Amino acid sequence: MKTFFLKILLLVLIVAGISLIFSACEQEHIIGDSISAIVQENPNNVTEDRSKRGLLCGTQFTEKQIEYLNETRTARRSFERSAVTHYVPIVNHIVRENNGMGGLSIVMLENALTELNNEYEDANIQFFQCRPVNYIDNTTWLDFNTVEEAAMTMPHEVDDIINIYYVDEVFKNAPISTDPPIELCGYAYLPSGDPNNPGPNTVVMSNGCVNNGSTLKHELGHYFSLMHTHGMSNCGGGITTDELVNNSNCATAGDLICDTPADPCLSGLVTAACVYNGVAVDANTQAYSPLTDNIMSYSLASCRTEFTNEQLNWIAYSLFIDRNYLMCTPVVEQITWSYNLIFDQFVVCANPYEGTTHQFRYRRNGFPFSFWKVLPSTTNPCFQFKPKACDYDVQVRIQAPNNQWSNWSDSVPMTCG
Ligand SMILES: [Zn+2]
Repeated sequence: MKTFFLKILLLVLIVAGISLIFSACEQEHIIGDSISAIVQENPNNVTEDRSKRGLLCGTQFTEKQIEYLNETRTARRSFERSAVTHYVPIVNHIVRENNGMGGLSIVMLENALTELNNEYEDANIQFFQCRPVNYIDNTTWLDFNTVEEAAMTMPHEVDDIINIYYVDEVFKNAPISTDPPIELCGYAYLPSGDPNNPGPNTVVMSNGCVNNGSTLKHELGHYFSLMHTHGMSNCGGGITTDELVNNSNCATAGDLICDTPADPCLSGLVTAACVYNGVAVDANTQAYSPLTDNIMSYSLASCRTEFTNEQLNWIAYSLFIDRNYLMCTPVVEQITWSYNLIFDQFVVCANPYEGTTHQFRYRRNGFPFSFWKVLPSTTNPCFQFKPKACDYDVQVRIQAPNNQWSNWSDSVPMTCG
């Protein structure tokens, strides 16, 4: 009997031991997963480091740009935002290695664009890709320096569209040439105020910051005329803003915007819980109480989720006045055609246009222009018609979300085979 109890005891101990080992493994497994989840879901780790070094954004403000914003600030302040959705064309340029490897993934790009559009919905703005993604296979530019901008962008820049370039890393040369280059998350250009030369439609993004939740929104904020909430100068060496906490000079100091409180530059002064922990005071010795959630601040990338009402009005002004030339003329490219003669009907399909609005037209080969038979616009990738002969040309054109039509594609000849 005693032996029986000993055996039972031994068995219980073994089972308990095994389950302990399993639970330890499970624990380790869970910890391993959660660490990798944090790293994957929180790429702002990189940005947090960068923001602590004050290297979030490389957008510069020229005197001329600031003068222009000052002249127009009253009109911007209360500019009426569009009541209907306004579609803004972009084209994405992804830099990869010479052999086509590397570069930003399409999943990351799509995530960033979805987040971007969620944010700009408040301004009734939606960005759309007017062209397919353009790949720039040049290893040199993966580690991009701002001095290389013209060389990289000029062969690829599309006029009258926002051109966004994605590289592995963005550097700018330090003011002192012997210092190492400064790393940036991205940069853009404010409108110049000159209607004949409104300023570049170029945005450059570091891939490490594309999915941090805010850098792309922030850079496009600059493109649509917003300054940093801490004002015209960049962070570094203490307080930079001349805006007073009591709001008395808000229209002429700081970012010239009154519903963004005075901001001493938040780089390194915001906790992971998005709380400002700085102690600086303004010229009246009043302590700052800045917005830590503002997209145009130097708060942590993950904290920056909002534009203020006045900022949205500035964006709208910029879209309809400064950037009123933005326009998408879509292009038809990368189409594959197929056609079959089924009984007495030509069945013609153009891919990959499934889901887009497009239009077909066809005519007898060599017949005059007026003989084009234009079909109603459709989302159906195929159409059919009964030919009178065996030599037809077909063309297609596509419609962008802003309703603009592309040119007609090249003719595709069809014969009865
Ligand atoms: Zn910035």
